[in-house]
Amino acid sequence: MTTIYNFSAGPAVLPKEVLQQAAAEMLDWHGSGMSVMEMSHRGAEFMSIMDAAQQDLRDLLAVPANYQILFLQGGGLGENAIVPMNLMGASPDATIDVLHTGSWSGKSLKEAQKYGKVNVVASAADNGFTAIPARDSWRLSKDAAYVHVCTNETIDGIEFHATPDVSLETNGAPLVADMSSHILSREIDVSRYGVIFGGAQKNIGPAGLTIAIVRDDLLGRALPYCPSAFDWKTIADNGSMYNTPPTYAIYIAGLVFQWLKRQGGVAAMEQRNIAKAKLLYDYLDSTDFYANRVAHDCRSRMNIPFYLRDESLNADFLSAAKAHGLLQLKGHKSVGGMRASIYNAMPLEGVQALVAFMQEFAQTHS
Ligand code: PMP
Repeated sequence: MTTIYNFSAGPAVLPKEVLQQAAAEMLDWHGSGMSVMEMSHRGAEFMSIMDAAQQDLRDLLAVPANYQILFLQGGGLGENAIVPMNLMGASPDATIDVLHTGSWSGKSLKEAQKYGKVNVVASAADNGFTAIPARDSWRLSKDAAYVHVCTNETIDGIEFHATPDVSLETNGAPLVADMSSHILSREIDVSRYGVIFGGAQKNIGPAGLTIAIVRDDLLGRALPYCPSAFDWKTIADNGSMYNTPPTYAIYIAGLVFQWLKRQGGVAAMEQRNIAKAKLLYDYLDSTDFYANRVAHDCRSRMNIPFYLRDESLNADFLSAAKAHGLLQLKGHKSVGGMRASIYNAMPLEGVQALVAFMQEFAQTHS
């Protein structure tokens, strides 16, 4: 039987071991006689799942003690509103600085405009979203409420390989990062950020869970009309149980965190992710049958868009890929072409199979 490799950008591939464990525990979690889906979120069983998931995430990202780990709902796009509603209360007239590096930060900046004055620090529109604008072109505000960045643009395939440095010009404005599509794929220094958020459905678990890591001093700054269920302070004060959290998604995320620990943690994953991405980029750079247009120093390790030189072959490429067990390679509808998302759960063998198929397809269609 053909081995299946799933390159979806999200919801995305999960570790097989995790799915097997979830299947084995589906009807009776640890002798409780219940499925996790059937448990009260306030019962001892689910509380133990929740506590372990939060602690494991804290361990994996070395989250300092003065940060809260919040399990929310609303997804990445929900956070685009939830962030300003939580940070603008102390200074409703302050500017929101947004670095526009691709589709997702573009959505963030549009949403932020509902809550305040937005300053576009720099825009990659000027280079067709193929590179992060040069640092010396950024125009940061002196008094911003916060600075928003998307550290991995899932559609454009652009990734920050260092923490965006905004400290000098901004008077200490907190850095807010949408890490939806690369959280846990690489080591990060959480202490450089005020807020980190991400939807779980790419590199963590099922859709429905959103994670926010928030520095303590940023709690309690919400606008008066911020819904209580989205007020980070209320959520933190209630241990992410102010309202019913997405229990099953948290359980699966917890299994993924344990799996990551067994793999050697984020540092080990990062080395594997570097190797996987290098394999695909090296091949793309060695042929003119395919092309990736992103500047080398900001190419994403997680989401690799590429185009066939002859785009009339796109449909054939996708159907032949599917016949080889290589699924969900179609690029986002807004940019076309192809995209291989190679999150933590994608094994090296999957990328090897993709490159072998791409070589074969190029040979038979040149
Ligand atoms: N930000 C990024 C970087 C994303 O990749 C996505 C989803 N593709 C979103 C935000 C939106 O997430 P959601 O659909 O969970 O709202």
